[in-house]
Amino acid sequence: MSAACPQCAAPDHAVPIPRAVADPSTPLDGPTRALLAPPPEPRPAPGQAGTASTVLYGIAAALAVLGVVSLLHGARDLDRYDAAYRLGYRLGPFVLPGLLVVCGLIVQAVSRRRRRQAAAIVLPAQKAQWQRNLSVWQAGWLCLGCRAAFFPDAAIRPDFPASPALPLDQFPLWVMTAAERAFGPTSPPVPH
Ligand SMILES: [Zn+2]
Repeated sequence: MSAACPQCAAPDHAVPIPRAVADPSTPLDGPTRALLAPPPEPRPAPGQAGTASTVLYGIAAALAVLGVVSLLHGARDLDRYDAAYRLGYRLGPFVLPGLLVVCGLIVQAVSRRRRRQAAAIVLPAQKAQWQRNLSVWQAGWLCLGCRAAFFPDAAIRPDFPASPALPLDQFPLWVMTAAERAFGPTSPPVPH
């Protein structure tokens, strides 16, 4: 299949963009390759500790350090107290930090589950949009003479007219706009 560039009309300068990007011998510099790269597939955001649990861990760590310091400096004679009191005296400063760590773990688990639920709702829509962008991107052509991108007549959809020659820095935005017009929720039905 060949297509003629709308600017110079030379068919021998035009290559499909997927082939141009995949072929390392295509004379394209790094920034141009990045502009012509396929739309990135959406992925769920990596899990991380939320702000609330990080604050709780911070307070717990500070209190634990204070507990150690007070135990080291507490020159209190414990020998006249029974074993249970001595144990309580030693462990007391660490009860609150321990509780805070438990709270932090619970907050973290809850927020991780909420994030996963939110991603389960948003991700399918993002994937559908990505599929639309990808099918437009696959229809793109590059003119190596003019350094311009273009879409031949009916390449995106049977009823989609040819595009003008597009400066390469406008190509990613054009893909997204054309994808919404051709395949988005408000696009007209494909003619048979
Ligand atoms: Zn051209």
